[in-house]
Amino acid sequence: MKKVLIDGPYSTKIQEVDKPKALKDWALVKIHSAPICTEYKFFTEGIMPDYPLGHEASGEVVELCDDSSLNIGDRVVVMPQYPCGKCNLCKSGEYIHCLDTFDIQSFTGISEGGSTLAEYIVKPSWLLPKIPHELTYDQASMICCGLGPTYGALDRLNLSENDTVLITGMGPVGLGGIINIKDFGAKVIATGHNEYRNNLAKNLGADLIINPKNNNALKLIKEFTNGLGVNKAIDCAGSVDSQRLCIDATKRNGSIAFVGESNDLKINVSNDLIRNGLTLVGVWHYNYKLIDDLIKIAIRSKDKLNTLITHKFKIEDIHEAFYLQLTRNCGKVVIKP
Ligand SMILES: [Zn+2]
Ligand SMILES: [Zn+2]
Repeated sequence: MKKVLIDGPYSTKIQEVDKPKALKDWALVKIHSAPICTEYKFFTEGIMPDYPLGHEASGEVVELCDDSSLNIGDRVVVMPQYPCGKCNLCKSGEYIHCLDTFDIQSFTGISEGGSTLAEYIVKPSWLLPKIPHELTYDQASMICCGLGPTYGALDRLNLSENDTVLITGMGPVGLGGIINIKDFGAKVIATGHNEYRNNLAKNLGADLIINPKNNNALKLIKEFTNGLGVNKAIDCAGSVDSQRLCIDATKRNGSIAFVGESNDLKINVSNDLIRNGLTLVGVWHYNYKLIDDLIKIAIRSKDKLNTLITHKFKIEDIHEAFYLQLTRNCGKVVIKP
């Protein structure tokens, strides 16, 4: 089967590798849609990660082994990672934090089968939720990181329809957050540095869009919220400036979820947490028990998902897809293996 390999800075190759097989309760899935996430960072560095390249997909079950709740031909979303499925974290739906993840090589006997930037993937059946007929493969693939991380954040923040939410960072994750918040009926303020993506934010229904390069974002947010600040904020940019803006723009007793990754923010326990009463949480993904809700949001929002997906490429054109992501003039980019 074909698989993407990064073989140097700004260099990719399509490699022919062994096709994996269904084994025990792991199903073999033919990948139809593989959105790309942060893999372009490895493209610029020129190194393969020490885990499979690509983690978002949807596809069709083509081979099964032992008893499985799935059938050949089922259309499924491919959830990320290889968690054990048995520990308390997995059982509670927080499999993303599992400490006992499978090593694909030692479980299947071959090192291939874990990458979504390939023609086939193997996955434990319980991590393959079925796609309802209302959704296409491309739309359903947004249930991974298109809608997922911000949906997890909104669940942790107990979003209500009366809230005004700030989302910083209009990458594909932040843009997906707008879809989730508008589905709840709440207001959303979006900040982003790229005009192409800010325009997408507008098309997805953001109530106020601010480019912090040209504006005093904090002042505009306060003006929009009668001087008080937002109830809730989600940082999807992962920069110190955007994370600090979330803290400073959230009103007293409000709550903030950090989805974008970095380790440099200084938190003032006294001013930020004690005096302002803010609640800060870190969110990587969503609790798997929310999958049915997320599928319903995807069905209600499928037109918006079509807007979020701005480009599709054949796997042979992965090089072009990574370059496009570097320009940031795109929403979600989907590879069609
Ligand atoms: Zn586990
Ligand atoms: Zn992702």
